[in-house]
Order: sequence, then structure tokens, then C-alpha cells
Amino acid sequence: MRAVFYEAPQHFTVSDVPTPRPLPHQVLIKVATCGVCKTDVHIHRGEFISEFPLIPGHEFSGTITEVGSEVEDLAVGMRVAVDNTVLCGHCYYCRKNQPLYCENFYSLGCNGPGGFAQYVVANHDKVFAIGPLSFDQAAMIEPTACAVHGLDRIALRPGDDVLMFGTGPTGIVLAQLLRHAGALNLVLVGSDPVKLAIAGKLARADTLLMDRSHYDLHRNAIDHRYPHGFDVVIDATGAAEVLQDCPRYARRGGKIIVYGVTHETDTMTINPYQVFHKELSIIGSFAQTHAFDRAIQYLQLGLVQVDDIITHRFPLEDFQSALDQVDHGSGHIKVIMDLQNPR
Ligand SMILES: [Zn+2]
Ligand SMILES: [Zn+2]
Repeated sequence: MRAVFYEAPQHFTVSDVPTPRPLPHQVLIKVATCGVCKTDVHIHRGEFISEFPLIPGHEFSGTITEVGSEVEDLAVGMRVAVDNTVLCGHCYYCRKNQPLYCENFYSLGCNGPGGFAQYVVANHDKVFAIGPLSFDQAAMIEPTACAVHGLDRIALRPGDDVLMFGTGPTGIVLAQLLRHAGALNLVLVGSDPVKLAIAGKLARADTLLMDRSHYDLHRNAIDHRYPHGFDVVIDATGAAEVLQDCPRYARRGGKIIVYGVTHETDTMTINPYQVFHKELSIIGSFAQTHAFDRAIQYLQLGLVQVDDIITHRFPLEDFQSALDQVDHGSGHIKVIMDLQNPR
């Protein structure tokens, strides 16, 4: 089969590799669509939890073409998406029923073979039927599941006012979930006017354009329009200098949500007296587990819309172009690899 194959960080070829065979508890899936995300850029550089050699791609959908001998709940021909996380079940955290914190966190496309390939194998218990969703929509189930987990972590109260920085794909999905979860004033801040308009429309949110070289402009605008601040302030940009600014917008009792992925070595300065006096909470949201069932239903019911989010598609052979677009291109929201069209 054809696959994006990394020998080592930064060194990949699109080449012929052996097609995997499913073990008795696994299925073989012919990949149709696989989303490209910022995490794939980190993996390209050998960051995150990546291990090499590697076939990356963690947001994939496709059709089952072979079923292992012990699999009873799935059949050849089913259209599916895969929860790419494999939790060990026996480490300190798994035994405490905290599987997301698994010390042996195994993730197809991060430290195990993923979906930038014509075929991928997956354990049957992590394979989900996608119903009437298109393969493109189904490739957005994994990012949506991460946003559903973000919603769990935020624990929004109906009527909370929410401020979010960033208009990337998972940010736009999270904004829609927050709208349905009962956010009152929902304000999105981003530096790209086209993306901001799409995000604002999908989440029925107020929007504010940010000038990356003049932070005072949006600071003053937010302070003027929302002088009492917000119950929830979310960074979905992953830019440390934006995160650094989040506490100033939190009202008393407010929550700061670290949702975007910063560089591993970034730091921020916190005023502990402010945390104490305003009773602020600082909350992280990492990946997801056991959120696929809800993510699929949010998409199937049309409560989360992703069609306007998918802006760029590439054939597998053009992986370099897709990676360049996500890393330093402009004007895109979600980039996908389209494996149904070889060229
Ligand atoms: Zn991703
Ligand atoms: Zn574990």
C-alpha cells in the first residue's frame, strides 16, 4: 500500500509499505479521509509523544475491508471512524479509572501506525460506525471529540459569559459546543477576518478582530464592551503571549482554559495574589478518550457543523504540500488528505 512513512523526524517519503494484517480482535480499514492538524507538524519535528519509524495521521475515516476472527460487532463494508487512543488498562492511572492519564498512552498516528496510508488496522472496541456522515465529516469526529472533552473540563454553567482566543478547527468546534451548552455572551477573538466570520456564524458568537502587532486594540475593545470580564476565558491559539493575557479578562471566580497546544518549553507568568483574590481556576484540556460517541451525535444532529471548516484537500502523494499549508500557509482552517482521489 501507499503510505506516508517517516524513517526519523523530518525524514519521510510517500512510498510502498506492507499492507497491515488485522489481529483476531482488530479490523482492517481502507482509509478515505485523514485530517491534517498542528499535531502532525509537531510530530514531523519529533515532538509530542511521537516515536519512529512512524506512519502518522490520527483523524481518519474509511471502510472496513477485513474483520479479525474474534470480532463480532463489526462487518466488512461498514463506514467507520476510529478513536485513535489505546489505553493500557493496567498502569497506575488506568487502575484508578483515569484512562486519559494512561502512562502507556498509545495513539495511532502519534506513536503507532496511523491514517496517512491506504490501509490501517484498529482494535474493534475503538471503531465507530459513522451513519450518514460523509467521510470528510467523519474525519472531524476526532477533533470534535477533543472539543467535547474540552467542554467536560470547562464544566460550563448555563448563562456563563465566555471569551475565546483562536479560530482554528477545534476552536470553532468548541465554540459551537459552548453555544449549545448554554453560554450567554460568547465572544471569539481571532486575527484572520475570514475565519473569524465563519466561526462567529457557526457559533452565533460576537467577534473581535485581533491585530497581532497591536494587542492594545483588542484589549481596549474587550474592556470597553465587557467591563466585568468573563466567567470562562479560553486560549485556543497555543500562543504563549495570548495565554499570558487571559487572566486579565477573567472575572472573580473565573476559569482560564489552556486548550491550545503551546510549545513544550513555553512559560507564562501568573500573579498568585490575583488567583487568590479573584479565586481563579486554571484548567488544562488534553486530547480525549471516551468522547467519540457524543462527538458523532453532535455531528449527525447538525449541532456541530464542519462543512465550512474544511478548506483544503490534498492527495496522499502531496503530503509535503499539506504539511506546509498547516505549518506556515494562510487562509486555511482544516486541511485534509483525500485518499479516494489518488491525484
Ligand atoms: Zn489532531
Ligand atoms: Zn494505562
